[in-house]
Amino acid sequence: MALILYNTLTRRKEPFVPLDSNSVRLYVCGPTVYDFAHIGNARPYVIFDVLNRLLRNMYPKVTYARNITDIDDKIIKAAKENGEEINELTKRTSHYFWEDMKALGNLPPDVEPHATAHVNEMISMISCLLEKGNAYVSDGHVLFSVKSFPYYGQLSRCNHEEMIAGARVDVAPYKKDPEDFVLWKPSETGIPGWESPWGVGRPGWHIECSAMSLKYLGETFDIHGGGQDLIFPHHENEMAQTQACFGPHTFARVWLHNGMLTVNGEKMSKSLGNFITMHELLKKMKGEIVRFVLLSSHYRQPLDWNDQVVQQSRQSLDRLYNAFRGRDLNVEEPVFEPIKAALEDDLNTPLAISVLHDIASRVHKAIHENEKNKWASILKASGIWLGLLQEDAENWFKGKTGIEESAILSLIEARNKARAHKDFAKADQVRQELLKAGVLLEDTPQGTIWRHN
Ligand SMILES: [Zn+2]
Repeated sequence: MALILYNTLTRRKEPFVPLDSNSVRLYVCGPTVYDFAHIGNARPYVIFDVLNRLLRNMYPKVTYARNITDIDDKIIKAAKENGEEINELTKRTSHYFWEDMKALGNLPPDVEPHATAHVNEMISMISCLLEKGNAYVSDGHVLFSVKSFPYYGQLSRCNHEEMIAGARVDVAPYKKDPEDFVLWKPSETGIPGWESPWGVGRPGWHIECSAMSLKYLGETFDIHGGGQDLIFPHHENEMAQTQACFGPHTFARVWLHNGMLTVNGEKMSKSLGNFITMHELLKKMKGEIVRFVLLSSHYRQPLDWNDQVVQQSRQSLDRLYNAFRGRDLNVEEPVFEPIKAALEDDLNTPLAISVLHDIASRVHKAIHENEKNKWASILKASGIWLGLLQEDAENWFKGKTGIEESAILSLIEARNKARAHKDFAKADQVRQELLKAGVLLEDTPQGTIWRHN
């Protein structure tokens, strides 16, 4: 089977054909480092890590570029509010970001360009846009003229009114048209600024990604990823800038966008009090549980973060780790083919996870020890493709209850039998016994579930 991806540009699933099968190039918009990353920020990085792993298994060379936006008005504002130097703030929050990425089990990108180290590249791209007549200088600013670029809107498919509505927040006297966007803006004293042909200033956000992807991946590259909230205006603008400079068929050929994350059914916001930062979350649970939740829904679907899905993910991981705990593992064992097939079908991670469960069942059902060991090894080897199950199983269970999952399950069965015979004293005794071992039972319409207390 070949890799099939849903391309936002064409709104279709398409077979993935790299420009150069010896060198595949992937760009993902990185963080703006002004605060802790929240759980919604983490989703694309986990999803595109799975894509990166898959591509690396399929092609000899992959270049994965993910930028760090370390100059932005949000950064300037946050530094002022904190009474902190800008470079201290960006350094501190970049470190938090890298800690989060590591805890989530993401492989580092091959290049992680910082915007502030690429201002010259941005200036030369802006100069190119001015030369080609796609940009104009006005009141110390340089703006991209949307009307000058006939292909504008091809990615987001927004109509003219929607674009203006989207740009309205930025209506400013120096703009010829409300939909025009900033490529360069002047910096007053006390705000970071770079010398440019248009005075001391700083780049707009969109030009950063165009200039950095150009430098590390070229005028045209294979895949560009990010959250659906970036399609308009950020990605539309990135595309317009690069194509206005280098021609209509340049820039990313395939666009991948992940769905948004809600918390308890609501959009995450600081005012609703449901704002979960990775930094706080990782104090409470292992990064692998967060990763598992983020991969439990298909990436294009919305994902709701709630206690139940966290609990289910924790139990799933317990079950999977338990399947190879104490087993004699052979590291040579290959991935189980259905995992690969699931991921090749537009990164179907929920299906891939169900295949992991299927492998775990094969471990339990196998009669001979060597067969159990073989399936346990396949389980571990298959987990790598999702960035899961790479911890030592004993470590995984360390600090947890001293009771094995199989023992918990047989006690639950014993309790169910007791309840069926209306022996409630016995049923309660089993519940108390499990509680002492740190296992809490919950009776649901689907049956009894358990969790670590
Ligand atoms: Zn970007």
